[in-house]
Amino acid sequence: FEGLLDEARIVARSLAEAAAGALDPTIRLGVTGLSRAGKTVFLTALVQALVHGGRLPAFRAYAQGRLAGARLAPQPDDAVPRFEVETHLRALTGPDRSWPESTRRISELRVIVEFESPGLFGGTRAGRRLTLDIVDYPGEWLLDLALLGQDFRTWSARTIASSDGPTRAPIAAAWRAHLATLNPAGPEDESAAREAAARFTAYLRAGRDERVALSTLPPGRFLMPGDLEGSPALTFAPLALPETGDAPSGSMWAMMERRYEAYRSHVVRPFFRDHFARLDRQVVLVDALAALNAGPEAVADLETALTDVLSAFRHGHNSWLSSLFRPRVDRLLFAATKADHLHHTSHDRLEAILRRLVGRAIERAEFGGAAVDVVALAAVRATREASARQGRDELPVIIGVPEKGERSGDQIFDGEEEIAVFPGDLPADPEVALRSGGYRGRAHDEAGGDLRFIKFRPPLLPVSERPPQLPHIRLDRTLEFLIGDALK
Ligand code: GDP
Repeated sequence: FEGLLDEARIVARSLAEAAAGALDPTIRLGVTGLSRAGKTVFLTALVQALVHGGRLPAFRAYAQGRLAGARLAPQPDDAVPRFEVETHLRALTGPDRSWPESTRRISELRVIVEFESPGLFGGTRAGRRLTLDIVDYPGEWLLDLALLGQDFRTWSARTIASSDGPTRAPIAAAWRAHLATLNPAGPEDESAAREAAARFTAYLRAGRDERVALSTLPPGRFLMPGDLEGSPALTFAPLALPETGDAPSGSMWAMMERRYEAYRSHVVRPFFRDHFARLDRQVVLVDALAALNAGPEAVADLETALTDVLSAFRHGHNSWLSSLFRPRVDRLLFAATKADHLHHTSHDRLEAILRRLVGRAIERAEFGGAAVDVVALAAVRATREASARQGRDELPVIIGVPEKGERSGDQIFDGEEEIAVFPGDLPADPEVALRSGGYRGRAHDEAGGDLRFIKFRPPLLPVSERPPQLPHIRLDRTLEFLIGDALK
């Protein structure tokens, strides 16, 4: 019955939205990716480019001079926090230029784009407008879709089994040791439940450490609680259950199962119904370089995560419940972020690697329906390129200012001085990159420190430029894929 009510709500809303958008296009664009993938930076740069322009040759409506302007407008959903683009932009371009605060919950922003469409006989039709509603949300939440189709027993068994892998086993050890002390049929015990949840969360979090770089496992709110930080809805964990039978009343099993069900009905379902199911377009940001740096297991794990993401967008009917919560996306873009950590000769290679990964994930997820593309981009380019002599060779380098406190060997950077880094190459053959997990470049300094992990500060912008135009890599191509067709 709850499902029917959801369905009625979704249909009513779609009709209202279709009526409102009949004349001028409205697009609801989702921006997601796991934490640190670059969502906040991406969305800030995208809005800045729409509102203030920049060097955007591949964004056709803009390059053809058909964009009459873009402005922020009040967002349609009052209950969703606003994406504070002004604050983020101030952080990026202010005198202390720094990266903005990352996404920790859902937020929304509406941009109205005024444009002229190309008319008949070479003329244009002015006065058209695109309403772009952008929704930024943690990628961790997306992986929760899998939970809608799994009961507590299935979820427990799968989660325990997947923690046996060679990378996961050591980081899961503390949680597994505690799990072994729990008797599911024994009486419910709040403090044991809290301890189990804390250790389970620590395990999920350890998998997201930069050097392990595993993609994530649900429940997504354990890593990105949003407004549920510290809430009892998150105080549960898997149990080692018998294959048949029901939970005895008053048992640990019954308590954990109840909380798992509450998480599904009060957290997961509303998110998919109220936000996810309404998206028309989606960009999924991926820190593919971090996975390539970390090695083959991280790459394999990324492929699994991409498969899960694609199944969330698949227009199939594997279960009526989850197909109800599927969005109507017709365009899906996977973007490898932070390409400014590479020399431009490797940008196409990074794109080719991501294309191969996504291609395999498309096959595994039996994905069809939406147009899918990939891009390697830097929403904000923090480095520039040069070449440096090493012995008799001229080597391509990237130059940037490392963040204050970043280290390489014995050296600690002061946040002011520029350094040149040999960024290393990606293999030309994507298969080789995927098999070897990567990217064995020349990116070491003389002390043997690994420069690939250096974080650069945002770029220093010319003071004369107000409003500032942010340098980027391929943001224009990204815009063209995501909204170019609506500006015709
Ligand atoms: P979120 O957690 O997905 O919102 O990630 P953020 O947008 O906050 O980005 C996380 C970090 O990645 C930032 O603080 C930057 O250090 C880095 N980053 C993101 N985008 C770029 C980019 O285009 N270039 C570079 N060099 N670093 C980036």
